[in-house]
Amino acid sequence: QAKAKSQDIGVYETGSDEKHLKQIRLVNDLKIALTEDQLTMFYQPKVDLHEKRVTQVEALIRWFHPELGFIPPDEFIGLAEQSGLMPTLSRWVIRRVLNDAVQWQSEGVDLIMAVNISAYDLAHDDLPDYVMRLLKDLKLSSRHLILEMTESAVMQDSNQALSILNRFNSEGIKLAIDDYGTGYSSLSQMKSLPVDELKIDMSFVLNLDESKEDQAIVQSTIEMGHNLGLTVVAEGVENRKSWSLLERYGCDKLQGYYISKPQNSQNFLQWFKEYDVN
Ligand code: C2E
Ligand code: CA
Ligand code: CA
Ligand code: CA
Repeated sequence: QAKAKSQDIGVYETGSDEKHLKQIRLVNDLKIALTEDQLTMFYQPKVDLHEKRVTQVEALIRWFHPELGFIPPDEFIGLAEQSGLMPTLSRWVIRRVLNDAVQWQSEGVDLIMAVNISAYDLAHDDLPDYVMRLLKDLKLSSRHLILEMTESAVMQDSNQALSILNRFNSEGIKLAIDDYGTGYSSLSQMKSLPVDELKIDMSFVLNLDESKEDQAIVQSTIEMGHNLGLTVVAEGVENRKSWSLLERYGCDKLQGYYISKPQNSQNFLQWFKEYDVN
């Protein structure tokens, strides 16, 4: 089925017309949101099972639209990508997250910040310069940053993307593969990439307590990851039983509602100061 050109707007069904208009509105509103303080970052901890403490936090964007209310990232990240807004959005995110890290340091909280980036961020090669300049200005070490990317984003067969990832790696910025297991790449295909961390997709973890299949998949993924020298993280840990199983499998880090939901900076700090793994 051929795609309708934008001037053939009459060929769209009413439903898709409305959807299209809503998307145009959201893109416009997102540009405004970037300048008007409607966006903020929430933080969710990753617990290191060897060190028995929280060592990292993942930063997750939140949009509180003045009229439409809360809009989840899954509803606007894709639009930001398609409309060319992603480089601006990602810079906003990284700047906010590193500023929060500086703020936390002043309160004695020293954590590694995990930031999600998209394949579209690797289409321009100026992101590493931007990040390095920011770290320098904030007097933060590059060890405070890890970038999370989905396997499909990093497996894009482009020299440009690879050279950006290598540049980050040489600057000491770590890279995590997000949602691992949902794409088509194998771990062995990834061994040529400068990857440090593997995040097993939540879909294999959410029902770990009940599913023998998921238990087999997760256990063997952890083993394979370790054989390749990677740190393995499980996200979507929602209960004690899943935690225990993952601990038994030798998983390195855990993330999920059982530990904490994502929270704003202030609430996260309060949670962090009271949290005890044992
Ligand atoms: P993701 O990177 O895979 O993030 C994990 C998602 O799972 C988050 O949803 C988180 O709130 C949720 N989650 C964490 N633990 C649990 C759990 O135990 N159970 C369940 N059911 N869910 C859990 P969120 O915040 O809605 O983000 C959705 C996706 O949007 C993210 O998936 C990521 O791909 C994207 N995203 C979020 N923030 C950013 C950002 O700043 N930049 C970019 N490029 N993408 C972002
Ligand atoms: Ca992520
Ligand atoms: Ca994920
Ligand atoms: Ca369950």
